[in-house]
Parts: sequence; C-alpha cells; structure tokens
Amino acid sequence: MNMPRIALIAHDHRKDIIVALAREFRPLLAQCRLCATGTTGGRIAAEASLDVERLLCGPMGGDLQIGARLAMGEIDIVIFLRDPMTPQPHEPDINALVRACDVHDVPCATNESTARLLLRQLATDLQRAAIPPLP
Ligand code: PGA
Repeated sequence: MNMPRIALIAHDHRKDIIVALAREFRPLLAQCRLCATGTTGGRIAAEASLDVERLLCGPMGGDLQIGARLAMGEIDIVIFLRDPMTPQPHEPDINALVRACDVHDVPCATNESTARLLLRQLATDLQRAAIPPLP
C-alpha cells in the first residue's frame, strides 16, 4: 500500500481537537504524507511532532491549494474540522474544497467522530497491508 496522503485543516475553534487527534494517532500519521493549512500545520508539527507540509493559511488560499491537489489525485483523505457556529471569511473556498471531495470521491471528515472512524479504518488497512499474504 502506498503511503497515504492526508490533508489536515481545522478552523480556530477546532484546532485543539485536531492537535489532540494528531497526538493520539501519531503512530499512524507518522506513516502518512501530511499537508495542512498554515496555522493548523504549524500546531500539529509543534505539538504532535509530525512532519507536515504547511500550505497557505486557510483564509489566504490554503483550502484552495488542498482542493487543487485533491483534484489532481494527490490527496487520499481530508480531515477538515469545520466550525459550524462561526462565519468564515473564506466560506467559498471551504465549499469548493468539500465539493471537490465529493466530485472526486475522496473521504472527507468534517467532525471529530468521522475523523476517528476514518483514521481507525486507515490503521486497519495499513496493518492488513503489512501482513504478508498466506502462501
Ligand atoms: P489555518 O486555516 O490552518 O491556516 O488556520 C484553516 C482554515 O481556516 O481554513
């Protein structure tokens, strides 16, 4: 199985949650290629000690960069912890990214519970791939 490519994004009120998830799933995420919007990526790198490619901050176009990569087939999973209670200046970019996930059928977790389900499934898939097939 190729190294899974995961994009990580969290709005400000969800950043503590994505950092906690990154710490909890660190052994799994360390086997993946990670990219993230600027602030989210900085926090995950600093607080979960993971290698993360940092793109632009969300409001400056980071979500669009991730959407473009995804459209090119370069992202396998998106963890996008949105804040549904706070209006965002880059709402069109957010909608574009979620739409791109649907267009290209890329799994996109927009809340913590779904993120857990996706990451657990990915851990299982990686474990299975590591077991050599029976002769
Ligand atoms: P940030 O962007 O990680 O740079 O804060 C996230 C967003 O607001 O989309």
